[in-house]
Amino acid sequence: MPIHLLTEQTIGKIAAGEVIERPASIVKELLENSLDSGASQISIGIAEGGLREIRVVDNGCGISTDDLPLAVLRHATSKLRDFEDLSRVATLGFRGEALASIAAVSRLQIRSAEDGRQASSLMTEFGSPPEVRTASGSTGTVVAVSDLFENVPARRKFLRQPSTESTAIQRTVAAYAASRPDVALQLEIDGRPSFATDGGRGLRAAATAVYGQEVGHALLELPELDESARVPGIAASGWVTGPAVTRSHRQQMHVFVNGRLIQHRTLNFVIEECFHTLLMVGRHPVVMIRIEIDPELVDVNVHPTKAEVRFQDERAVCRAVQRAVHAALAGAPTDELPRVSFTIPAAPPTQSVQPALMAAPARNPEPAEEAMTNPPATSRSVPMLRVLGQISASFIIAEGPEGLYLIDQHAAHERVMYERIRSQISSRTSDQQPLLDPMVIELDPHETAVLERSLDELNQIGFELEPFGEQAFTLRAIPAIMTGVDIRERIHLILRELAEGGVGESWLDSVAISAACHTSIRAGQVLSIAEMRELVNQLEQTEHPRACGHGRPTMLLMSQGDLEKQFSRR
Ligand code: ADP
Ligand code: MG
Repeated sequence: MPIHLLTEQTIGKIAAGEVIERPASIVKELLENSLDSGASQISIGIAEGGLREIRVVDNGCGISTDDLPLAVLRHATSKLRDFEDLSRVATLGFRGEALASIAAVSRLQIRSAEDGRQASSLMTEFGSPPEVRTASGSTGTVVAVSDLFENVPARRKFLRQPSTESTAIQRTVAAYAASRPDVALQLEIDGRPSFATDGGRGLRAAATAVYGQEVGHALLELPELDESARVPGIAASGWVTGPAVTRSHRQQMHVFVNGRLIQHRTLNFVIEECFHTLLMVGRHPVVMIRIEIDPELVDVNVHPTKAEVRFQDERAVCRAVQRAVHAALAGAPTDELPRVSFTIPAAPPTQSVQPALMAAPARNPEPAEEAMTNPPATSRSVPMLRVLGQISASFIIAEGPEGLYLIDQHAAHERVMYERIRSQISSRTSDQQPLLDPMVIELDPHETAVLERSLDELNQIGFELEPFGEQAFTLRAIPAIMTGVDIRERIHLILRELAEGGVGESWLDSVAISAACHTSIRAGQVLSIAEMRELVNQLEQTEHPRACGHGRPTMLLMSQGDLEKQFSRR
């Protein structure tokens, strides 16, 4: 076969294929460029999964008019001069390929200005020679990529749904935003704000803005280690969520090496190992760990999209991460940690292929999933339990065929209440208890705002509330299940929890979870044996008895075998 040279355009398209797998790879490259430019504010907008448009705006150092056409040439970079520099590279980019690759497969527009200089703009379409003009605008850079892969229909065919691409983009930007709390980063998807960090309030605030209140509360920062525990030349910082907040996937486990988001299966494994028995089978923590290491000890040039790196001493890196995560978990408040030798009880015996440890569902598990694994007619979800007593006025101790059970009385009751509320919602029958004297409840502005947003939902679950003046409401009826509690206090608690953002699948679900939580028996309440029996009995009747509405376990099991082992009987 005769050999011929490929055209520049074909070379460009082939090269682009390596760097740009999907829209999320473009967003990652552009975001890394903005971070390299020293920007303190970056905003990203995408439309139709990034296929129609990706726009990244930063207030970084900008590109000079002379350099602008070079930026879109292949192998043109301001970050590296010769091969030796590569071993010391401190920037995220270094190959000078991203913009050139993007230019080959899209309409690309860049507007940029250095501090105090005239702005200029560049335009190129599917690899056409760039046109540069003077423009107006402030310091920083705007990159707009549109009609991605229009000239590579084969590539377009392999892309997933726009919503899947949006999710991939969201994940990448979220991870970077969490890792760089010093940068105010915001993301808009199809015109709607996804999240925004404010660039100044530290790791926890950034994590809360990105991943929500639940993760923000649960995260355990990796502490700085003592001199003796440190691994020389390697430092790990960041956070992991405690065992109370986990996911069914590893897609929110993020590791950064010198600021670059990487994939590293061994490190993920090492991190999860630190949780030992605290993680239930099939559950994974949310993780944002930053490893700082001497650039000479890591090779960043081993993967086309720079998603993998090679460490000179991988074991040392694993050790550093392991020690830091251990230290974070050791400092966790003890109420986050189930007792080590207790486990979450297994699902019914029909699931013979399941391991002994069964994941407690996060919040309410999807019914479809549960229906497949729990044939309802033949099995009970929890076994029959014999109540033995109460510990610390908080936990019920009971015996079952498999061993010793500890039941969290609040979580258990919350599960019972939550399912009752859900069934009333779905059958549209709220058991109401009218109040003889309607009660006027005064609220602060936050509570008023939340109440207004939640009025319909609260009415659906059995409250009857009407506005009364500017910042007060009249309560005429309550859900029948709410008897015997200080109603006024509980309503404030429900509203305060909702003000922090919902934890349910929908707002109605969030209101139901919150109402269930704050109408339940609390820890610290002494119960009679009869009351405990009744509660355990009610828990046995629920559809998902192993976790409360918030996803916390309701019960722990120490098996007969464990007991025998602990007493050295076998
Ligand atoms: P690399 O990042 O590997 O250098 P790129 O193709 O991503 O390659 O970018 C080429 C060059 O364009 C960079 O080296 C940098 O000088 C310039 N550049 C790109 N994006 C920006 C930005 N947002 N702000 C300032 N300069 C930028
Ligand atoms: Mg780059």
